[in-house]
Amino acid sequence: MPEFSTPMMRQYRSIKDKYPDCLLFYRMGDFYELFNEDAHIGAAVLNITLTGKAGGKDGRIPMAGVPYHAVDSYIAKLVKAGYKVAICEQLSPPNKKGLVQRDVVRIVTPGTLLDENNLDKKANNYIVSILIEDSVLALAVADLSTGYFATSQIDPEDLNQTLVDELSRLLPTECILPDELYNDAEFLKLLKTIPQLNIFPSTQFAAVQNDADKYLSRHFGVKTLEGFGLQEQKVALRTAAALLAYLKETQKGSVSHIQKIAPLGEHDGMLMDRSTMINLELFATIRDHDTRGSLLSVLDQTITAMGGRMLKEWLKKPLTDKALIEARLDAVETFSENPEMRKILRDLFAQIPDIERLLSRLSVNLGNARDLVNLKLALQTILQIKKLLQAYNEDNKISLLLKNQINNFSKGLESIIHIIDQTIVEEPPITTREGRMIREGINDELDRLKNRINKSKDWIMELERSEKERTGITSLKVRFNKVFGFYIEVSKSYLDLVPPDYMRKQTLVNGERFITQELKEHEEIILTAEERINDIEYKIFSDTLTRVLKSTEIIQKSAVSIGVLDCLASFSLLSDSKRYVRPKILYSGEIRIKQGRHPVVEQLVDDPFVPNDVTLDNISQSLLLLTGPNMAGKSVFIRQVALIVLMAQIGCNVPATSAHISLCDKIFVRSGASDVITSGLSTFMVEMVETAHILNNATQNSLIIMDEIGRGTSTYDGISIAWAVAEYLVKAIKPSPKVLFATHYHELQKLEDEYQKQIKNFHMAVTSDRGAPVFLHTILPGGASHSYGVAVARLAGVPQTVIDKANEMLQTLEFRDVTEKGKQYDIVAPEINHEMTSIADHLLVQELATLDVANLTPLEALNKLAELKEKIKILTSKQTSFIEAD
Ligand code: ADP
Repeated sequence: MPEFSTPMMRQYRSIKDKYPDCLLFYRMGDFYELFNEDAHIGAAVLNITLTGKAGGKDGRIPMAGVPYHAVDSYIAKLVKAGYKVAICEQLSPPNKKGLVQRDVVRIVTPGTLLDENNLDKKANNYIVSILIEDSVLALAVADLSTGYFATSQIDPEDLNQTLVDELSRLLPTECILPDELYNDAEFLKLLKTIPQLNIFPSTQFAAVQNDADKYLSRHFGVKTLEGFGLQEQKVALRTAAALLAYLKETQKGSVSHIQKIAPLGEHDGMLMDRSTMINLELFATIRDHDTRGSLLSVLDQTITAMGGRMLKEWLKKPLTDKALIEARLDAVETFSENPEMRKILRDLFAQIPDIERLLSRLSVNLGNARDLVNLKLALQTILQIKKLLQAYNEDNKISLLLKNQINNFSKGLESIIHIIDQTIVEEPPITTREGRMIREGINDELDRLKNRINKSKDWIMELERSEKERTGITSLKVRFNKVFGFYIEVSKSYLDLVPPDYMRKQTLVNGERFITQELKEHEEIILTAEERINDIEYKIFSDTLTRVLKSTEIIQKSAVSIGVLDCLASFSLLSDSKRYVRPKILYSGEIRIKQGRHPVVEQLVDDPFVPNDVTLDNISQSLLLLTGPNMAGKSVFIRQVALIVLMAQIGCNVPATSAHISLCDKIFVRSGASDVITSGLSTFMVEMVETAHILNNATQNSLIIMDEIGRGTSTYDGISIAWAVAEYLVKAIKPSPKVLFATHYHELQKLEDEYQKQIKNFHMAVTSDRGAPVFLHTILPGGASHSYGVAVARLAGVPQTVIDKANEMLQTLEFRDVTEKGKQYDIVAPEINHEMTSIADHLLVQELATLDVANLTPLEALNKLAELKEKIKILTSKQTSFIEAD
């Protein structure tokens, strides 16, 4: 890089050198400019023009600029594309002699974006830091936009899986690593499986290495970290300290809204691994990654940003504590019993802005007086909510959890409202440097100065009147503008009347502007007064802000309570409108659902949704083996059971006529038919890795959903694996976990004979209409006998010639299959000799030869096919007994 010859470019270079990994937004008047390589990147990503700046002997320097007033959206775009942006402001006023002072005032990165317009209001924006020391892995996580901060050490057993699961749950947008991890290609590869994660190295790990405890204690203003329950977790604390230091580095100062650090508990709720969350389509559909069609899209009736974010977190970590679940269910019941209260409450929610993010912006000095007023209005609404709850509480109408929320709306809120209300005007401007924010009566000097300015208006009017009279110029005007200050404007036709004491200031098309000595003096007084007013107002604003921020914790607590109330009221509304029932929470190990429905599919299907019952326990019916053709509704049914359990454990009512739910510690949902989600591994490999994970981690309290396991390999491999997995689940873990096992391998139905106590066969009812299968979506006891695969292909519009060929192949294969299967499973092991085969051939050939295919309806054809199959079966069993008798 050449040495720059101009002072300004030298200044640019010296600042840029300090931020080599950032794009430097260098403020020049009304623009932020990017230079050199940064300019090329900016131009490409932002689609702005790449220009050049004459750099004297430096030649032409590539340059690209964005206007300051629209900078937020440009920054957000760059940051979302994975860049970091350092914002370099002018720190001394322009126009003064010499080079304007400049420095970086903030670094914006994917995980530290605070611009409300560019954040999803119903999702957290997490940033994480990871550290590995002496084989201990620690993870810290923060959301700068809300003040959330937590850390923990991860159990070294199955470390990678746990880390990936945790990150998949959090879905952070940024991860910082110490150099040694950043340079570890294997580790990086693992992290890169997390979608939308931007990974950066950070020197902060080294910086806080030795005094992490002290660094954190200082930030939280505590003597020891004991109160946070983390003092033993040294590596976790070092990771957390590095993350906090990184956040401070990006904000160039305080992050006072981060008020506490929580243990990032692995075991404080139900565990779901990454593929479970994906397969259950909790937040997005598998096929289009669309939020529509996800469970969240159905459940989310929340109004506030806090409620929206909380619901998402609840869904990621359902509860495993009966009392906590019952408390939420009681609250939902309270709302359903008092719909008028719910209605008023939800109307009030609509007036509550994103308090957490508002507070964050204020804390890192990005806020303004308008934010303070909005905070005041929000707190006033919260007091109305408190009053409403109190009134219902007096009549003993509300549940304990709701009562607790009343206490979370602390008395201190009133004094915050008071502080803001008595200081800040109702409608302050967005800028904090140009006054008009502070009420009268707060500061004597301010009032005096304002008075002087007000009087100046009269003085100007008086001057205009007297000058008109003195000069005889009737159109004379005395005015003020920001660029030229005060002036007397005289139109062209009166210029000959201008008195000699008028000094020309500016020439216009239709006249001239003048100034007089008297007006100049007045201008000086006014401008000085205005400057002083702006300074005093800014100081008062800052003091007010500091006072308000002292109450950060109680404001945050209220915001959390609003989130809780919003979620619970939303559950109640949902429950009433969608006919959900309150689940009964048990510890017995049993799950019994009557007329259960899939919460999402029931919204999407055109025909009425067919409800189904299910009973599962650890002893007499722990594995339901579900067979039936494709499209019969197997996947929907088994997932609906998992979703109902999950909904119950977040404290929501469920789509059923009754539900008895024993608490599950883990839900596993594995599908052998879903997309490849991890790069570098074949679908089948992924399927097997995840199957292994389930088998190694399931407990008697887990719910396991296996959908078409073993489908990704050859039929016999697949059957064998599916068989062995099912068997393991009922044999190896005692008492067994609860398993729903959907498969199109009918062979597995034989498991029921062997494990009569635990495995029960069920199938999806199918009937037919003129040859086409009609799926009734009803679960019936017993196994299925037909796959209808070719029939489904026909329904899907596959050309008739292909269907004909497929049917032909099917007959051949099924015949062979019957004989092969005998070998495979040792059911009976016939050695089929040529004579027998030729008899079979002969019978079938005869029958087929007499068939008038052209005159058969598809249904008749299908029945014929089934009949032929049956005959083969009888035939081969005769062969078997024949052999056995031998
Ligand atoms: P399978 O897993 O057996 O191949 P799915 O579970 O994917 O079948 O269901 C196929 C389709 O059938 C679903 O997309 C849905 O439209 C419909 N369906 C499934 N279950 C029901 C039900 N209980 N009531 C109504 N329609 C259903």
